[in-house]
Amino acid sequence: MYIAMMTPELAPVAKVGGLGDVVFGLSRELEIRGNFVEIILPKYDCMRYDHIWGLQIDVHDLWVPWYGGTVHCTVWFGFVHGLKCFFIEPHSNDNFFYRGTYYGCDDDAMRFAFFSKAALEFLLKANKRPDVIHCHDWQTGLVPVMLYEMYKFIGMDSPRVCYTVHNFKHQGITDQEILWATGLCRPEYYFHHDRLRDDFDHRAINVMKGGIVYSNFITTVSPRHAWEAQYTDMGYGLGHTLHTHQGKFGGVLNGVDYEMWNPEVDSHIPSNYTIETVERKYGNKDALRNRLWLRQDYSPLIAYIGRLDSQKGVDLVRHAMFYGISNNAQFVLLGSSPDPAINHMFWEAKYHLNDNQDCHLELGFNEELAHLIYAGADMIIVPSNFEPCGLTQMIGMKYGTVPIVRSVGGLADTVFDKDFADWKPLHERNGFMFNEPDLHAVEHTLNRAIRLWYDYPDHFRNLMVNGMRYDFSWNYPGQHYSGIYEHIRQK
Ligand code: ADP
Repeated sequence: MYIAMMTPELAPVAKVGGLGDVVFGLSRELEIRGNFVEIILPKYDCMRYDHIWGLQIDVHDLWVPWYGGTVHCTVWFGFVHGLKCFFIEPHSNDNFFYRGTYYGCDDDAMRFAFFSKAALEFLLKANKRPDVIHCHDWQTGLVPVMLYEMYKFIGMDSPRVCYTVHNFKHQGITDQEILWATGLCRPEYYFHHDRLRDDFDHRAINVMKGGIVYSNFITTVSPRHAWEAQYTDMGYGLGHTLHTHQGKFGGVLNGVDYEMWNPEVDSHIPSNYTIETVERKYGNKDALRNRLWLRQDYSPLIAYIGRLDSQKGVDLVRHAMFYGISNNAQFVLLGSSPDPAINHMFWEAKYHLNDNQDCHLELGFNEELAHLIYAGADMIIVPSNFEPCGLTQMIGMKYGTVPIVRSVGGLADTVFDKDFADWKPLHERNGFMFNEPDLHAVEHTLNRAIRLWYDYPDHFRNLMVNGMRYDFSWNYPGQHYSGIYEHIRQK
């Protein structure tokens, strides 16, 4: 099958969070299964160009209709760790992808509407007719809309669209300007509750809603979150739309790319290990402590890795850090935030803890350091308010790092509490979990984990090994997505 991925992120070249990992891992799995996969993304100025091989111009002159005129684009081709990628570079005064950042600009809706339009225009002009176009998050929500309202009538009637929502919080809510820019026009038609009109602000377009309405199939990234998005406030107002379209909506748990995330072969860590040689993990703990100037001591090391966003329960993360270091544990945090208030909170904590040899905060994005932390830490905490899937707990488990998580979304689908998951046999329990998003629950759960580490090291080791035995590879989700593609192709 020929699959075109349209995405704002791709690990490791353009990665902000899990979306980038997912597009990379899923694409690789689909290729292993014999499909032909091409990935289309913007050519950002801030990408990791050192991970692109053989970058060259594929199309010199792609003219993309935009408002009443056209925008001249160049399309580049290159391999990202073997994956075939096309990068779209517009040449206009807007400089859509020359911003030194992936997201967070005032005109994000326009930037990605343009990308969506250009990606379709590229397929059309290059005579590419994928069987399936797989779109990701609000940034590409207009692709199915334009495909079915415009491009279908000019020779693109065969592709089917699978649309994956990685995060319902960001929906691309904007004004009608994007209708005029993309040539969809007809606001009286699109401002309808069955199409693109936002359910709460009736003067606004909701791009993600458009993606849901017009796609042949919609997925989100775990079965639990598929339920939450429909029936709780975690759908951020799209529950009704999802309910209307429930016949074409489902949850597929993300996988982890075990070529990239595997302690047996990871080149970013000094001491490789497997289940059989798990004690070698402690070579990485030593290395991590040395690198971050932490005390070499007999104590457990707790980590947090992730975007510092209100979604992630940042108050609980901060509390876990202070609670951990005052209860005979060490704490390492790797994270960054575009939100000035959250940033300030963690910079303040960093200054406050500057001389503390049991704690380190690394405020920024550092892929290489992330590998060493997964390998060197004993536990990883993920106290999210909502978590569509969450990769850090799954990566952590692969590295024998025991997850401590809140029971939401994909966390609840992947972590089974040592003491309370009584529907699971002991050898399938792999971590610690709490329900309430409050300080007391965090303290209580951290205390259970720290006590187990000190008092019953053998039991703690069992938990590590149980986690390592789980198979969170792309094998099963790859099969699941292949089934969805087959299904929509036959419709
Ligand atoms: P989300 O998609 O909400 O950001 P996930 O848990 O699904 O969260 O994925 C997070 C991914 O991003 C993981 O691969 C994690 O290692 C990585 N990551 C997050 N923050 C950082 C950071 N500051 N430095 C390096 N890697 C990070």
